This record gives sequence, structure tokens and C-alpha cells, in this order.
Amino acid sequence: MTTNIRNAPERGRRVINYLRLSVTDRCNLRCMYCMPEEGVNFVPHDAILSYEEMLHLVELCVRKGIRKVRLTGGEPLVRKGFVGFLKNLGKTEGLDEISLTTNGVLLKEFAAGIREAGILRVNISLDTLQPERFFRITGRDLFKQVWEGILEAEQAGFNPIKINVVAIKGINDDEIVDFASLTFEKPYHIRFIEHMPVNGSGGWGHDRFISSNEILNKVESLGEIRRIENGSNLDGPANRFIFKKGIGEIGLIEAMSNHFCGACNRLRLTADGHLRSCLFSDNEIDIIGPLRKGKDDDTILELIEKAIGEKPENHEILSQEPRKCVRRMSSIGG
Ligand code: SAM
Ligand code: SF4
Repeated sequence: MTTNIRNAPERGRRVINYLRLSVTDRCNLRCMYCMPEEGVNFVPHDAILSYEEMLHLVELCVRKGIRKVRLTGGEPLVRKGFVGFLKNLGKTEGLDEISLTTNGVLLKEFAAGIREAGILRVNISLDTLQPERFFRITGRDLFKQVWEGILEAEQAGFNPIKINVVAIKGINDDEIVDFASLTFEKPYHIRFIEHMPVNGSGGWGHDRFISSNEILNKVESLGEIRRIENGSNLDGPANRFIFKKGIGEIGLIEAMSNHFCGACNRLRLTADGHLRSCLFSDNEIDIIGPLRKGKDDDTILELIEKAIGEKPENHEILSQEPRKCVRRMSSIGG
């Protein structure tokens, strides 16, 4: 019997407690669905939030209820001084969890330092287990580095190690079972993400789109799975499953086919200092401007409150021809 992912339990009332912080808009890969090879206008360095500004803004966000921060990008590990920043971020009172999303290219070098900085959880993005295909998807011949980075992260004791796979029909859907099989050998959480039509996501189309339900059908061809409930209210929107003999987990992120906006607990702070209430809405609140004009904490707190208040209940993104966000995923942070 195939599982209908829409039988998922109702999610509770949302509390906005999760900040995705993009530390840079630059990247050492050029994923076909995220960042084109040419024509990307990177933000000038002086228009990017300094680490000091980020630390201050996180403190203010914590005062407004944020309990978890995920560092993202662009590729966070390409920014100089990132591990030192993590150490300082770890001293923020009131933060329960700091995690990281990386493409893994520099993880071999930095995994131990990141772990020492107190980070327990890491998400590594990897869309293929085939080196040649990796080159085709990312424009760089760096599969080996990423795989070694994953092994190094395992060695350094990250738990769990989550592997993010953006599933795209005709590109890597034939590897869904290969990724799922990894959970028999490794304690990894393999998370399949539906391809989203964000600016730069070259070639998004209904014909390329593969839904979580279709992905789950392919996963189930390997054996019986059972659903695992999400434990804490800091957990993301994944539907989680495990094989009977699996040691890792499968996660399905229905970014498109099931609007989880009503349960979305996230704010996003872009590297150039703008707060976004929703990945799919171009409404942004300028924080860096008032901050650099010397506005007091109360003013910034009001802006954070405003961003929280503006979180939409829904995005009707799949029911109509998808509108693309003006920003690229790499500058929002995913
Ligand atoms: N560079 C890091 C990485 O790739 O893990 C962090 C930033 S990246 C923007 C964050 C996540 O967004 C990655 O897992 C990536 O696969 C995902 N992503 C980027 N563009 C996407 C798209 N169009 N649809 C779905 N996921 C996307
Ligand atoms: Fe870079 Fe991540 Fe975007 Fe790929 S998905 S281009 S690794 S920011």
C-alpha cells in the first residue's frame, strides 16, 4: 500500500521561534536551480551585515521569541571568520539551538572547528551520488570534497547529519532510491525537498516537478516504512519516515504541494540585513538601514515584531502559474 503523505497529522498553532540567518550571498557552487554561472549581482561587502551586527540582531530576535538559529547562505563556510562567529553566536543567552546548512565543499576543513563551537546539527545539500552528475548540477567538479566532508562531519560527531536532496524530474529522480538506501547503512537523515520556483531556479516547470507523494512511492519500493512524529516545536516541516531495518531516516519537505505556511515558524534575515516573513513573498523589512543610522534597540525590536506580524497564512504557489521571487534562493538562504 502506498502512503498518502497528506494523511500527516495536523500541525499545531505556530510560534515564530526560528530564524534563518544568511551570512553571505556568495557561493563556491553554481547549482542549476539556485545560482547561474553568469549575471549574479553579488552584494558589495560593505553592504553585508558584519558579524557584530548579526550578533546584535540575533540578541534582539531572541528577545522577540527566537529560540533557534540556522546559519545559511550562499555558502556560509566561504565567509572568512565564520567559525569564530559561530563561537560568539553560541554565547547568546536564550538561544536553544544553532544549526548550519552547507553544501559541504569546505566541511572537511571546518567540521571539527564547527563542532567545537558547539554546533550539533548540520544539513548538507547533495543532490546526486554520481560525481559526473554532480558536475552537471553544480557546475563544479567537487563531489569527492563534499562526500569527504560528510564523512568528516560524521567523524566529528554531528548528530543528526541531514542530507538535503532537491528532487527534480529528469535530473536526479532516478537516484531517490539510492539516497533512501543510504539510511540502511548510515544514521543520516535524507531529506527530499520539492523543487521551488525561486528566482534563479532555472528550468522550474510542472513537468520537472516531483511531489513528495511521488517521492514517497519510490522510497516505499525498497520496503515497509513507518511515520515518525516530530518531537519539538523547533522541528522543521518535514514528514519523517523510517524503514523497519533502517538506521537513518527519510524526510519529505512539501514546500510546494502542501502549504505549510500556517505552521511555518520561520523568519529570514538576509545577508544584506533585510527581514523576510516568507520565502515566497518579496515583502521585506529593512533592518540594516535603521541599524546603521544608529536607531535604538526599541526601534529595531518594533521592526522585528512587524516582520513576525506580517507572516502570511498561506502561499497559493502551486495552484497558479508560479510567480518567482525577485531574490535568488542564495541571497535568501533557503
Ligand atoms: N549553500 C548552502 C547549501 O546549498 O546547503 C546553503 C544555502 S542553500 C540556498 C539552502 C538550501 O536551499 C539547500 O538545501 C538548497 O538545495 C535549497 N534550494 C536552493 N534552491 C532551491 C530551489 N529552487 N528549490 C528547492 N530548494 C532549493
Ligand atoms: Fe550555492 Fe547552496 Fe545555492 Fe547551491 S544551493 S548554488 S550550494 S547557495
